[in-house]
Amino acid sequence: MAYNKFRGDYLFTGTTLLDNKHVLVTNEEGVIKDIAPLAEAGDNIQTFEGILSPGFVNCHCHLELSHMKGLIPEHTGLVPFILSILQQRHATEEQIIIAMKLADEAMLQAGIVAVGDISNNALSFGPKQKSSLHYHNFIEVSGFSPAIAQPRFEIALEVYHTFKAHFPHHTSLVPHAPYSVSTDLFGLIDALDNNPLSSIHNQETPDENEFFFTGDGAFNLLYETIGVTIKSFYKPSGKTSLQTVLPLITKPKKLLLVHDTFTSQSDIDVLKATPASIQQTIFCLCVNANLYIENKLPPIDLFLQNDCEIVLGTDSLASNHLLSILSEIKTITQNFPHIPLQTILQWATDNGAKALGMEDTLGSFKFGKKPGIVNITNLNKAGNITKDSKSVRVL
Ligand SMILES: [Zn+2]
Repeated sequence: MAYNKFRGDYLFTGTTLLDNKHVLVTNEEGVIKDIAPLAEAGDNIQTFEGILSPGFVNCHCHLELSHMKGLIPEHTGLVPFILSILQQRHATEEQIIIAMKLADEAMLQAGIVAVGDISNNALSFGPKQKSSLHYHNFIEVSGFSPAIAQPRFEIALEVYHTFKAHFPHHTSLVPHAPYSVSTDLFGLIDALDNNPLSSIHNQETPDENEFFFTGDGAFNLLYETIGVTIKSFYKPSGKTSLQTVLPLITKPKKLLLVHDTFTSQSDIDVLKATPASIQQTIFCLCVNANLYIENKLPPIDLFLQNDCEIVLGTDSLASNHLLSILSEIKTITQNFPHIPLQTILQWATDNGAKALGMEDTLGSFKFGKKPGIVNITNLNKAGNITKDSKSVRVL
């Protein structure tokens, strides 16, 4: 069988940034065969400007909101954002499906190979089934009133089984957020067997912690506006939202905490009290969406100081201008210039593949994997990513 050889100014392996003296060797199907020293790699080497990297993993997206691109105003805060989403329900199924297919294709072209995608219904099933991307489907359920726990769970379970039939190892049933899922509904989700990977929107706004500490703040407006009387069943816990709901998520082996914009050291201390051998928590950063909605960035240095596992996500086109992992990397490098590029690229590739349980094939240039190749171009002289950098799929 013939081999293909690829050489860039830099070769990022999934964990290590190598120089141009290394050549990536694949077979014709893109399966990794070797990383060879240039001196031993022979001829017929394809040469690229910039970095060659394994394909990106987008750990948090909502493909089904792709038709909402540009519809929701920026910097309003989370509660007005949620209310805007609830009010923008004019699109037809056909329009929603067309927008999903375009977003899926755009992710593919920009070098994304896998997506952890939130689904509130089965509309994305068709586009995902036909897609060249690998999907992990997080079937999401919400309902803050305990009275609707059972019916909401049953509706979600039906969607879950639709996806599970085609994606048997890559479908989960997950809670939306601490402020939108009742204790009863958490209980029903947690009782589900064979649901090892979970996800939850976490501490995206300061209002979320306030709602759990004191019962005050913007979430009261949310429930007033949508006509849910919470007084009869809701009592603030006096703890952060994360610390309130963690004891309700016991079975999943892995839990993706998405956003984490207002996560504190005390939250991390509580997470550390649960050994990683029992449950691994992973911080999924969606920085462009955080800037879009709250105009605030998560405390990434705090996560680094605590050796937290980090992955990246784009969130949806309702809260982001692009579904591009490179665009997320740019925002992180601009705002946290002291974090080495190698570290951020690992979040975008190897860590993401592991988080979604796809590390057997994706995330790094290890022998036998088929992770795709993305070329990051337009670096500065020091080899760093700039606002002009681009990512293009090679394989
Ligand atoms: Zn989200």
